[in-house]
Amino acid sequence: MHAPVISRKGVFHCGACHSVLVKRTSYLLHPHLRNDVYVCQNPLCSASYSGHTEITGLVSPSGIPNAPACDLPPTPAYERALAERALRQQQNDAQLDIFDSPSP
Ligand SMILES: [Zn+2]
Repeated sequence: MHAPVISRKGVFHCGACHSVLVKRTSYLLHPHLRNDVYVCQNPLCSASYSGHTEITGLVSPSGIPNAPACDLPPTPAYERALAERALRQQQNDAQLDIFDSPSP
């Protein structure tokens, strides 16, 4: 049994001969889910594999004004960024109160 090949470039390798797999076909099953078929580039092997690519979350929102809302959940990192922004805003609002002129 050969050790699995782990590519740092994110390229899949054939489980039988360890040659690079190339995406042959790809089609959408759902707006956020794609089915992919990969073929081994070794002509003597030519094994093929299928799999899925799925978009599962929103990492950062669109910068387009009035962009439609995203139906994907925010990633934990994005939720943390929103919470930090809200906390900063709250702290800034609290600081501004110091400089507000006292009401008569
Ligand atoms: Zn192969």
